[in-house]
Amino acid sequence: MPPQMSPEEFRAAAHKTVDWIADYLRDVREYPVLPHVEPGDVTARLPKHGPERGEPIDAILDDFRNLIVPGSTHWNHPRFFAYFSVSASGPGILGEMLAAALNINPMLWKTGPAATELEQVSLGWLRQWLGLPEEFFGIIHDTASTATFHAVLAAREAIGPSDSPLVLYTSEHANLSVDKAALAAGVRRGNIRHIAIDDEFRMRPDALNAAIEADLAAGNKPFCVVPTLGTTSSTSLDPVPEIAAMARRHNLWLHVDAAYAGPAAILDEYRHIMKGSELADSIVVNPHKWLFTPVDLSAFYTRRPEVLRKALSLEQTPAYLHGASTNAVNLSEYTVALGRRFRALKLWFVLRYYGREGIAEILRGHMRMAQDFAKSVAADSRFELAAPVLFSLVCFRLRASDEDNRALLERVNQTGKAFLSGTVLRGKFVLRLAIGNIGTTSADVRETWDLIKSEAS
Ligand code: PLP
Repeated sequence: MPPQMSPEEFRAAAHKTVDWIADYLRDVREYPVLPHVEPGDVTARLPKHGPERGEPIDAILDDFRNLIVPGSTHWNHPRFFAYFSVSASGPGILGEMLAAALNINPMLWKTGPAATELEQVSLGWLRQWLGLPEEFFGIIHDTASTATFHAVLAAREAIGPSDSPLVLYTSEHANLSVDKAALAAGVRRGNIRHIAIDDEFRMRPDALNAAIEADLAAGNKPFCVVPTLGTTSSTSLDPVPEIAAMARRHNLWLHVDAAYAGPAAILDEYRHIMKGSELADSIVVNPHKWLFTPVDLSAFYTRRPEVLRKALSLEQTPAYLHGASTNAVNLSEYTVALGRRFRALKLWFVLRYYGREGIAEILRGHMRMAQDFAKSVAADSRFELAAPVLFSLVCFRLRASDEDNRALLERVNQTGKAFLSGTVLRGKFVLRLAIGNIGTTSADVRETWDLIKSEAS
């Protein structure tokens, strides 16, 4: 077997693979959203040891179809309504395929001039569509978790050396990635303050202010605050303008976690959600959540890239990296990782294929479907809405015990016809229906509601 696949073999296998992908995207509804497998089932069907000799690509593709696909949760299923649902859109998949073929590692400008510049250009387009100011420098990370980690590193750098313990503020409803970012950046476990929320799950500025004052009085060093636009449990919006004013007064780094709801600002009628974020030191928006870009791609913006670069700069550049262009952006200077993927390609494909108006129309459709679903819930006396429906997530529950609600969720998910997740709001277990897949139709939502009602009776 030659070390590289022959062009003929590659072409034949690639055609088969693309045919499979096209059929999969067409027929994904036919698959159960959740696979019928138990932990260990997939492992049990795979050989214990890797092959001594190479195997024909057809055998590998067969096993992909027969062993891997049946053991997979179908995130691309239009009735995947759990967590925040996502989409690997056609253009996104094509961009991903081409990025794999080029296999560029744009750690320095010269190791990927087009990849480096496309990252700046495509993030620039997205920034404009989000209504963020021009001075925001964009860089792509794998996940919002990594982006937020870099925000906290920059925040720590910005504050300079401190003998007092650093304190980071976020809300009770912040994503766990904020806690992890703070811990990884060296914030003490007890110094992450989860600020109380109001009755619509938004961080309370008065409680934030009180916490900062208390920390100052105790000799601690407040250094960073992370409000969320679109919290994970209920998509609530923390009051960024008030928090920004407080951050300015106390010299805190303001990092806005807009991982989920950020894309909504592309719509003129939702642009207002970004109010106050123009004052942020950094912000993260996840195209791999609600912008039809295959996992993974998280857009991180900071108005203070030089602080981030300083946080990660070494006293001496290692000899093996000498010769990096000094008059160009070298992306690895802004990230913990040296190597990086050419992720910008898939984002560029998505932004160009749909255009701003096309994206806005799809997001509007998702929000309309969420409103329709919420109306159905509100009209059924057995159920109640558990949170305001601000975007495309509906939180609801049976007017019954937590046990009944958990059992209902389990029964719905076991049918394989839809997949929802749950959370706890105001101390009660609630179901979450998150619309975000590009293939989801009103019929999907309506029939899922019928399924929920029938499983409830
Ligand atoms: N922030 C919010 C509000 C989220 O909902 C999530 C994930 O759902 C994250 C951050 C973490 O995103 P990622 O998986 O890209 O790290």
